[in-house]
Amino acid sequence: MGESDRLTRMAFTRTAGRLGLLSCHLCNSLTESAPGAYEGRCSRCGSHLRFRKPDSITRTWALLIAGYLLFIPANLLPIMHTNSLFGAQSDTILSGVVYLWTSGSWHLAVIVFIASILVPSAKLVTLTFLVVSVQRRSTWDPLQRTNMYRILESVGRWSMLDIFVVAMLVALVHLQTLATIRAGAGAVAFGAVVVVTMLAAMAFDPRLIWDPRWTRHE
Ligand SMILES: [Zn+2]
Repeated sequence: MGESDRLTRMAFTRTAGRLGLLSCHLCNSLTESAPGAYEGRCSRCGSHLRFRKPDSITRTWALLIAGYLLFIPANLLPIMHTNSLFGAQSDTILSGVVYLWTSGSWHLAVIVFIASILVPSAKLVTLTFLVVSVQRRSTWDPLQRTNMYRILESVGRWSMLDIFVVAMLVALVHLQTLATIRAGAGAVAFGAVVVVTMLAAMAFDPRLIWDPRWTRHE
């Protein structure tokens, strides 16, 4: 399919917004909006409807910045303190990865690295790219950007993998030596990064990606 075919198809795509209809996120029914109005009430269930999520860009930015700031203590502060017969030890995410790698559990090292460093930072960077592109009213491949947002949303649950890994480590250490493990402040910051990034992705309205296309064709 050529680029011009695709543009023509996009120009004739019918959306609720273009037809002056608001779709309800609770009961899925369509309600006609008053002319020129950007919000209304669902004619079936009475819930508050809007064409777009309110202040999407501002709220996404605020949560993104919080995410970047929390990412620093999440990586610098220890995520766990270990007390064993061999002494006390504190580990950050990275030193934990290095420890796992050098002690021969390279597959665990790879999982922890992907789940706690690669995925969270990739999510922050991708969402920043999407917000900036929407702010600059970019017309670059909206389909590609929508797919990026879809992957971003579905990948969220993989960040929780890290918690399983920590749980597994705790079990392993308990079996091998008589050690105690406590979660450190870095674990709290890491949990906050996961939650804040998830909220940022939820605050972003992917429909904004398509808006510049509409105004160009209308
Ligand atoms: Zn409704």
